[in-house]
Amino acid sequence: MSTPQTREQWQQLADNLTFNGQAFINGQYQNATEGDTFACISPINGQVLTEVASCGPADANQAVACARAAFESGAWRHAAPTERKQTLIRFADLMLAHQDELALLETLDMGKPIRDSLGIDVPAAARAIRWTAEAIDKVFGEVAPTPHNQIGLVTREPVGVVAAIVPWNFPMLMAAWKIAPALASGNSVILKPSEKSPLTAIRLAALAQEAGIPAGVFNVLPGYGHTVGKALALHMDVDCLVFTGSTAVARQLMIYAGESNMKRVWLEAGGKSPNIVFADAPDLQKAATEAAAAVAFNQGEVCTAGTRLLVEESIRIRFIALVADALKQWQPGHPLDPATSCGAVVDQAQFDRIMSYIDIGRQEGATLVSGGQRVMQASGGLFVQPTLFDGVNNQMRIASEEIFGPVLSVIGFTTADEAIRIANDSIYGLAAAVWTSELSKAHKTARALRAGSVWINHYDGGDMTAPFGGFKQSGNGRDKSLHAFDKYTELKATWLVLD
Ligand code: NAD
Repeated sequence: MSTPQTREQWQQLADNLTFNGQAFINGQYQNATEGDTFACISPINGQVLTEVASCGPADANQAVACARAAFESGAWRHAAPTERKQTLIRFADLMLAHQDELALLETLDMGKPIRDSLGIDVPAAARAIRWTAEAIDKVFGEVAPTPHNQIGLVTREPVGVVAAIVPWNFPMLMAAWKIAPALASGNSVILKPSEKSPLTAIRLAALAQEAGIPAGVFNVLPGYGHTVGKALALHMDVDCLVFTGSTAVARQLMIYAGESNMKRVWLEAGGKSPNIVFADAPDLQKAATEAAAAVAFNQGEVCTAGTRLLVEESIRIRFIALVADALKQWQPGHPLDPATSCGAVVDQAQFDRIMSYIDIGRQEGATLVSGGQRVMQASGGLFVQPTLFDGVNNQMRIASEEIFGPVLSVIGFTTADEAIRIANDSIYGLAAAVWTSELSKAHKTARALRAGSVWINHYDGGDMTAPFGGFKQSGNGRDKSLHAFDKYTELKATWLVLD
């Protein structure tokens, strides 16, 4: 069947979709050892899609033992890099071959528009796997500069058993950023998707197996963070824990690692990214269009969302009008309608959180310019209008705390130094943008910003070639690019003194 073009066609496909909620351990789908399940509820209409295995410590133990055995067997890690490359490329190709099904699962599970899950999530996840696979037979070790009678080799080895705990906002893509370099460099992986969006991770397991990844090398454990997530993080035989999620959980994972085996911990955490618009921005309309997208794309459930809009006072009123206008393009619609740009919020808890922050903004004295309402309530789904606040100062909770919803705070400034000071006055340091026509001002500002990604005259650029991650409490380590291999490998120095 060709890719659906209308909401009705997507709905028809959804009606015929089979959902698998089982764990995948050692090449087999299975229920949780204790038989526990939880309901996987679609935020589009509140309907239960399926029951999902709620894994716990026993499942974690089993998966880790299988992952360890697979690692020790060498079936994957000793395979030539070209062989791992070909297998992973097959995996990426299979993802694309199943793009409609994967996109639909993602949309039904967490509410994002089908246009995005099909146009962004699936291809970007497949590209992450393909790009990384293509790189793995092109990364070399080093030969140290030594005296004549010595040889020093610096090589990289897979770290062993990797547990990857990921969030619900880009379930497949965040998983791909972890599993691609982990698998490419020869590790065994246990993927723990968010309890709010487990379906694509579970489906990927079968595709990985079909591509030829050996049993035990790629396992998927659905379940809650405080049960199976915690069990993996505390496990004495997990060598490396990679995470994308909130800063609060990231902090807890460092404690678990310290309390257990000092496993390596790599964290991609929260953000409160500043988007700085100077009066001399080259194109104010473009800046406004992108400022709106920066907070409304994916319902604002984006770690790099440009939630603090810093605008030079001389253009503030004019610019806010442009942004308010641009936000009209982001009014919520049915996620299966290909025309929809803004879908449903992931679940009731997240919905309540967003609505409570909108109340907090009002109580703090910010001016509500537009949005702020629940819409499409009759659908049974969770839909929030993109919301624009003016008159915000950086100390307000809506400016300092990560909301993870489509709520934009406008903060005025008068000098570049003031803008930089406000931008950096955050516990986070994930991303930032600066809009100006002046080359020196652009680069001076970019240099001064304490953030892992800085965009000049656009928002949210980059691709697999560039590292992604945060300064400060936005995390450590980097996903994407060749730098990602650092997280999944140990460096070994082998020294030989010649007779
Ligand atoms: P979360 O921290 O609540 O959960 C993330 C994952 O951690 C889930 O799989 C969850 O089950 C698990 N978890 C929760 N408690 C745990 C525990 N005690 N032990 C082990 N695992 C546990 O985050 P979320 O709500 O799923 O996602 C939103 C957050 O993710 C936001 O803060 C966002 O900024 C962040 N995020 C960051 C990036 C990035 O690259 N920096 C990307 C996307 C999302």
